[in-house]
Amino acid sequence: MIFKTPKIQYFLSEQLIFTKINIFYVFACVFFLVSENSYSQEKEPHFTLTLDAGHGGHDGGANSYGKMEKDVTLAVVRKLGEKIEKEDKDVKIIYTRKDDSYPELYRRAEIANQSKSDLFISIHCNSASNSSAKGTETWVLGAQNSKKKDANFSVVAKENSVVFLEKNYKENYDGYDPNSPETVIGMTLMQDKFLENSLRFAQLMEENFQSNEGRTSRGVKQGPFLVLVKTAMPAVLIETGFISNYEDRAFLTSEEGQNKMAESIYKTFEQYKKEYYKKSGYDLENTKKQEVKIKENPVPNTEFKVQILVSRYRYSGDAIQFKGLKNVEVVKKKDRYHYFYGSTSYKSESEENLKEAKRAGFTDAMLVDFDKKEKEEGKYTIELMMSKDKYSKNSSELKGLDNVERIKIKPDYQYLYGTYNSYQQASLELEKLKKKGFTNSIIVIQR
Ligand SMILES: [Zn+2]
Repeated sequence: MIFKTPKIQYFLSEQLIFTKINIFYVFACVFFLVSENSYSQEKEPHFTLTLDAGHGGHDGGANSYGKMEKDVTLAVVRKLGEKIEKEDKDVKIIYTRKDDSYPELYRRAEIANQSKSDLFISIHCNSASNSSAKGTETWVLGAQNSKKKDANFSVVAKENSVVFLEKNYKENYDGYDPNSPETVIGMTLMQDKFLENSLRFAQLMEENFQSNEGRTSRGVKQGPFLVLVKTAMPAVLIETGFISNYEDRAFLTSEEGQNKMAESIYKTFEQYKKEYYKKSGYDLENTKKQEVKIKENPVPNTEFKVQILVSRYRYSGDAIQFKGLKNVEVVKKKDRYHYFYGSTSYKSESEENLKEAKRAGFTDAMLVDFDKKEKEEGKYTIELMMSKDKYSKNSSELKGLDNVERIKIKPDYQYLYGTYNSYQQASLELEKLKKKGFTNSIIVIQR
């Protein structure tokens, strides 16, 4: 057993002054970076989405009992667009039409290309002579399922047939033969990467139609649609249901049904976007937190952390038990481990952290003011390790550290190092010790 020398106390108070200056500096820098960030954020959305309401103007699309496809598609696109504009500040929306007009099919793709969209969603309704046919389909561009006798052939041929109402369609869709929609494929082949992402969106979409709305999903399909062929991005065409079917028609033309569809497409878009951001390395959660932060002042002398767990068990900070929460801190008090997530002086950010922790499954998580807690706790020390082995003062396991305190906690020995007046001081020392090779060391609240 060993004891502190006055030397250490002296060293600590110097360290404290240094830390305070440092913290001020870090704050100033962070503030500066944050303002820079959210400025460019507003100027540049991270995702551009083109929404295409099928048909319009002179082209009513499919119709039944006086209900027209062009009205359903516009209503759904408007609801969906409003929702995304309200919820997703990171997304810019481009509409191919917002009223009862008819942009030509090739123009719709052109609009998406010119705005460098990341995704193109075209919304439609189906119809069939058999009025019992019902349900949703999500299509991506492809040559499959387009044999002449196939029911799928009629969906593609019907959607493509609107070009005959366009002037100069022969020039704009060179080589297109209505009896053989496959000729579309010759115009431009979709890149594999786009196809893969289009299929992913389509798959999520059909799952959501089924689980959200209890609709009949007719699945993900591939066909040579003219409206998709010139898009230079992942693109899908959603058949939201059969206007020729009594049940579907009631749903498609009702406010409630249209809201539900917009909600399902929104949900799908959110899932897709999340995956897209993950692949491209963009951290939306963090950017959101920074945006909120800029609008408020930090609470002085406060540090909010989320206590996610108190346990007898010891986990490392990146353990799978933390379900994706990063940089979890652990503090030992008596024989319990206390786990904390996030650290901020901003109230709003702390609330975001709490929400994040709850979403990760820590439903009992709570916010603590660590600064206040720290004052109540008093002194800290560092547990270098727990070991079955009894090391002497000069043991190489202690890597030359002086004044290591060894305590018998049956059946192990606990090795403690230093006394610190604040958690902050202890964590600075902890970092150094980890670099030295004490990778399992943790902060302990002294009894
Ligand atoms: Zn259509």
